[in-house]
Amino acid sequence: MSDLVSIFLHLLLFKLVAPVTFRHHRYDDLVRMLYKVHNECPHITRVYSIGRSVKGRHLYVLEFSDYPGIHEPLEPEVKYVGNMHGNEVLGRELLLQLSEFLCEEFRNRNQRIVRLVEDTRIHIMPSMNPDGYEVAAAAQERDISGYLVGRNNANGVDLNRNFPDLNTYIYYNEKNGGPNHHLPLPDNWKSQVEPETQAVIQWIRSFNFVLSANLHGGAVVANYPYDKSLGHRVRGFRRTANTPTPDDKLFQKLAKIYSYAHGWMHQGWNCGDYFPDGITNGASWYSLSKGMQDFNYLHTNCFEITLELSCDKFPLQGELQREWLGNREALIQFLEQVHQGIKGMVRDENYNNLADAVISVGGINHDVTSGAHGDYFRLLLPGTYTVTATAPGFDPETVSVTVGPAEPKLVNFQLKRSTPQAAPKRKIPNSGHRGRVLPKKVQPRAARKKETMMKQPQRGPA
Ligand SMILES: [Zn+2]
Repeated sequence: MSDLVSIFLHLLLFKLVAPVTFRHHRYDDLVRMLYKVHNECPHITRVYSIGRSVKGRHLYVLEFSDYPGIHEPLEPEVKYVGNMHGNEVLGRELLLQLSEFLCEEFRNRNQRIVRLVEDTRIHIMPSMNPDGYEVAAAAQERDISGYLVGRNNANGVDLNRNFPDLNTYIYYNEKNGGPNHHLPLPDNWKSQVEPETQAVIQWIRSFNFVLSANLHGGAVVANYPYDKSLGHRVRGFRRTANTPTPDDKLFQKLAKIYSYAHGWMHQGWNCGDYFPDGITNGASWYSLSKGMQDFNYLHTNCFEITLELSCDKFPLQGELQREWLGNREALIQFLEQVHQGIKGMVRDENYNNLADAVISVGGINHDVTSGAHGDYFRLLLPGTYTVTATAPGFDPETVSVTVGPAEPKLVNFQLKRSTPQAAPKRKIPNSGHRGRVLPKKVQPRAARKKETMMKQPQRGPA
C-alpha cells in the first residue's frame, strides 16, 4: 500500500516538475511557468514584479541567488531582458527555458550551475512588453503576417526608442570636456517615457547591475554600444558609422563570448546579412536613438549588449528546441562574464562602507561607482591598470593592478578623509531601495568562494 502511495506521489511530483515544453507561452502561461520554477527551486529563486504595462500586465522578474532578495556585498548583479519588442518572441521562450535549466541543474548539483547561482545574483525578465506580445501572438494564431504587428507597446510606442537620450550629452562632452558616465536623467523624464520604460529605469537604478543582455529577433548577431551614431541627426538619412565606447574592446569580447558559444551566430552569414564574428557595433549597423543599451552604459554601472537571436521574429514552435540548444551554452557563458576584471569594497578609515565612491581606470574614460553597500565591480580585460577611488571629502587613492583572464581581482580601498575637521561621513548599508540588508549569518563571499573553488574542479559546458 505504501508502495502505491509512493508511486502516486512520484507521479504527482513528476507532473509538478514536468519541463517547460517547447511551445509559445501567452501571458497567463508565462506567469504560471515563472511560479512553477519558483516552486521547484524555492530556496534559490524569487518572483517579483517591477511594475505594470499599459494594459496592467505585470513585468515579472525571476531572480536566482543563494540568498534571493538580498544583495550580498561583492556578489555581482546581472540581468537578462526579453521580448522588449512584443513580436520578437524567441528571447522570451529562451529565458523561460534558461530559468528551468538553472533550477534543474542546481537541483542536480551541476557544479558549474551551483557555483554560478552561489556567486551571482541573476535577474531574468522574460517579457518587457507583454501587451505587444499578446497582439503578436493573436495575429500569429490568425495567420496574419506583418513584420511589425505587436512590436510596440499598447500606446503604439517602440520601447527601444523610448529611453531618455543621453548620447547627445556625451558627444557634446567629448568635444568640450565632461563625463560620459552617470549622466543625469532629465527632470521631466517620467512624463516622456512609457510605463514599461519607466518601470525598467526605476529597476536598473535600484540594483547595482554590472552586466546585462537585451534579447531581440529579426537577425542573428550580438550588437554592442553605442547604438546611436555621432551623425545621427543628419537630415534625410541615417548615418551609420562605427561609434565605439571607451570600453570598446571589452564590449567586443562580451559580444564574441556570446556569438562563439552560440551554435551558429559566429559564422557571420545569417538571415542574408554578414557580420564578421557574428558581432557588430550598433551604430555601424544602423543608428538608433533612445535605445536601452546606450542608456544602461551612460546612466548606470551596467554594461549591456543587445542579442539578435533569430531571423524569424516569431519562430515556429517546432524550431524552439533547436534554438534553445543553439543558445544554451551562450546564455550561461555570458552570465559567467560578470566574474572578471576587478571588484572590491570602498571604506573609510573606520571601516564604514562608502556608497557612490567613483572608481576610475587610467586610459578608459568611463567610471563606475560603488553600490549602497560600498562594493564596486569594474569589468576589465586582462592587463595592468591604474585604478583610482575617489569620494567627496576623501583623498583619492590610486593603485596599480594586474588583471588576469579568470577570476576578478579583489581590490579594496580605504580612503582617508581629506579635511580632519570635517564631520565623519558614515555610510552603512541601509534597507533603502536597493533591497534588504545582508543578514549577519552570511559569510563574506570571498571566503566561501575560496572554499568552493578548492572543492570543485571547473566543469565544461553543461
Ligand atoms: Zn527588436
